Amino acid sequence: MVIVTEFHCLVHEYVTHFPQLVFPRPQVCPGCHAVDVFIGHGFYLRKPVSPTQVYRVWIKRWYCKACHHTLSLLPSILLRFRHYLLDVIQSIVVTRFEDSASWTQVSRRCAVEGLPSPRTIRRWCVSFAAHAPAWWGAVQQTLAQHDASSPLLDPLGKTAGPHDAPRALLHAALHLLAWAKTQWSDVVTYGLADRLRFLWHWGAGQGLGRLI
Ligand SMILES: [Zn+2]
Repeated sequence: MVIVTEFHCLVHEYVTHFPQLVFPRPQVCPGCHAVDVFIGHGFYLRKPVSPTQVYRVWIKRWYCKACHHTLSLLPSILLRFRHYLLDVIQSIVVTRFEDSASWTQVSRRCAVEGLPSPRTIRRWCVSFAAHAPAWWGAVQQTLAQHDASSPLLDPLGKTAGPHDAPRALLHAALHLLAWAKTQWSDVVTYGLADRLRFLWHWGAGQGLGRLI
């Protein structure tokens, strides 16, 4: 089991300030719904990468005494099944879908000495496009419930769907963030560069599953 957790820091800060990090102990087990059952279960190592660097990121793990499963606190700077930092992947999907860049342009702007590879870049974009409609629908629904004045809202409603889901989702993430800033003080400093990390943390909490 995994809980995507916001530590309000970028990867180098997570690594540098690791001894000072506070790892929230979940009250309820998402697996068996028992209360106050988690005990510490050490850490495991992930080695996320940017085009130029490999990081050593220790992930906090809890153990449920009731159902005997472990639960990891995945920092929102990382996706579940991707080796690259979310930051790197964000720059790719933004360049591709928001700036409408060709594959060659995406590589030229975002890759460093061929990394990530053109094949990896395409795989991320295809995956983001596949998951975007469901995520976009969920964002729309949340904004409709909580922020009916949001200019994003499609008068045709959720079922109409966006014409270009990945681009629409990137845009919707900004509206979601703008709304979130009115709700939670710890995201007020978030900007453009934080939007996918914010979206990922939010959506994982909503049970939306994979984003990219
Ligand atoms: Zn449990």
